[in-house]
Amino acid sequence: VNVAVPMHGVATAFARSGTPGFRLVVHGGAGPLRSDRYTPDQERAFRATLDTALRLGYAVLSDGGPSLDAVQAAIQVLEDSPLFNAGRGAVLTSAGTVELDASIMDGRQRTAGSVAGLTRIKNPIALARVVMERTPHVMMAGEGAEALAWEQGIPMVSQEYFITEERKRGLETLQESRPLPSGSVHGTVGAVALDLDGHLAAGTSTGGLINKRPGRIGDSPIIGAGTFANATCAVSATGSGEHFIRNVVAYDICARMEYRGDSLQGAAEDVVLRKLVQEGGEGGVIALDKHGNVATPFNSEGMFRGWIGADGKAVVEIYR
Ligand code: ASP
Repeated sequence: VNVAVPMHGVATAFARSGTPGFRLVVHGGAGPLRSDRYTPDQERAFRATLDTALRLGYAVLSDGGPSLDAVQAAIQVLEDSPLFNAGRGAVLTSAGTVELDASIMDGRQRTAGSVAGLTRIKNPIALARVVMERTPHVMMAGEGAEALAWEQGIPMVSQEYFITEERKRGLETLQESRPLPSGSVHGTVGAVALDLDGHLAAGTSTGGLINKRPGRIGDSPIIGAGTFANATCAVSATGSGEHFIRNVVAYDICARMEYRGDSLQGAAEDVVLRKLVQEGGEGGVIALDKHGNVATPFNSEGMFRGWIGADGKAVVEIYR
């Protein structure tokens, strides 16, 4: 497998034809990430957590497991880590509370599940999957979604579990309009995977935007905006959610491939580096196609991202 990393953080990897290929790509959010904003220890911790997520997903895929399981396993590692803006360590609303959004999609059947405005679910991605597999619905929010979690035995926690000192400081700093400490804004997480049977899946999980109004919902739980997968392509996005919703970013990338015959890289770059930029949208995507090609364009300073394939070599990158 040959991985080339040209400019703009776009990586394209071609699985050799004839060899069974599987692949997993993860992200941990895009934003003003510059190497001078993190201490070596902080940077190591981010890299190590992304590496763990990749290896857990790799274990699923190399065993012949479904892409959906790999996506969920990788995302749960990042939700459990306080470093990323999902699950524990999610950013706070203007009221100092945590409200979580997540979604997952199975590209094979185009089934999807999504949850929004959760305040007590330890792993929102697990509940999104329950919505997909055990209800006739696609999207559930708030109390009704949490009642479903209770019924289905999905682990629930108190608000305190999610709230870290770092996120409290981040909110205070922002509300006093001082410059934000590093890592206090971004860190939405996502994963896309291709399994040995050639099936794609995508998922995204987030605490949304720091200082958002309670009740605000971003692109991450919106199928087609923050997450999309079909038989051709799988995408998970991160960035200024309102722009990603208005531009139906994840679906747009896959639709360009299907309707116009664009390459994965061409489609993803045009949407993220041109269309979103023109409108002031900030962020990036991870995208994977059925041949195992990977694109990770972002128009911000950095994006936590990594990928792993059948050779078991994990690559993690943060900056341009
Ligand atoms: N896209 C997420 C949202 O708007 C935030 C992010 O990715 O940083 O909720």
